[in-house]
Amino acid sequence: MWTLILKLFSVPIVRLGLWLPCLDYVPVSILDYLGFLNELLLHLDSHLSSSLLKTMLLVLLCWFFGVTGLLFILYSWFIPAVVQFNGSLALLWHDVIVQHALDTLTRSTQPQRLMKAVQKHATRGDPQSVISAIDYYCRHREWAMNIGDEKGSILDSVVSELNPEKVLELGTYCGYSTVRIARLLPPGARLITLEFNADYAAVARQVIAWAGLEDRVQLVEGASEDWIPRMKEHFGIETFDLVFLDHWKDRYLPDTKLMEDCGLLRKGTVLLADNVICPGVPDYLQYVRNSLSYRSCYFKSHLEYTKAEDGLEKSVFLG
Ligand code: SAH
Repeated sequence: MWTLILKLFSVPIVRLGLWLPCLDYVPVSILDYLGFLNELLLHLDSHLSSSLLKTMLLVLLCWFFGVTGLLFILYSWFIPAVVQFNGSLALLWHDVIVQHALDTLTRSTQPQRLMKAVQKHATRGDPQSVISAIDYYCRHREWAMNIGDEKGSILDSVVSELNPEKVLELGTYCGYSTVRIARLLPPGARLITLEFNADYAAVARQVIAWAGLEDRVQLVEGASEDWIPRMKEHFGIETFDLVFLDHWKDRYLPDTKLMEDCGLLRKGTVLLADNVICPGVPDYLQYVRNSLSYRSCYFKSHLEYTKAEDGLEKSVFLG
């Protein structure tokens, strides 16, 4: 009888495991757990005679699976549906709580999980399939701080319109926006992307290679404030045509001033800044919108994979 009860409960629980983003990791622990439960119940089956004890166990089991089901609904549907309209709550839930829980549960990092999704669903040498695989994973499984599909299409249109030969990206993460930009560059163009986290950089290299774009992209490991002053001597760059700012928000303004001081901006250079509303860069916006050296405009959109407002600021350097 107990084996039957276990089977009745185990089928939905294993199905539930299949919905979890950490698909490749969770079923092992669930199956371990079910195996243990199976043995325990078989053992009890042979020793318990009291129907009262059996009823208590049954109630406990129902309670346990009821709570598990409720938590699952909260985690996978209710909380994401509520927080998606508020940028700060969305970031707190996805970027802090869920990500740390998944890291602990799966003993892997988000970049590793993203890379796995790319290897599973994207075609080698096809940048669009890499972008789609990451977007699908981040919309349906696990939020990540890529620029995302909605703001990504604004980035695409700025790149296509400008047709830049020299591009600087500040903040690579897993290389999603790098792939987006690089796939649209004209032959012979260069994209230098800066990332100071070595683990992220390692995954980004694999993602860029998977998209077949490694010949157009130079991924530089290190902090923007260290590399910007070395761009000319190290890479022989005179000025950039486009700079995409998407690193930590407190660096937007000092790095913009640093690029000006280092002579990396020419008349017509476009600065495109992500996340100007969420998390927000008020000091940077105040600067580019009020300085006579820039003509600036805002592209309204949404924080990646949510419905909370965010946007891109495009600022043309006037010299
Ligand atoms: N542009 C990426 C997302 C970048 S997330 C995309 O849309 O796909 C921001 C990244 O900037 C993080 O990976 C972080 O490690 C990196 N970063 C933050 N500050 C930095 C700095 N000062 N120099 C270099 N990288 C930085």
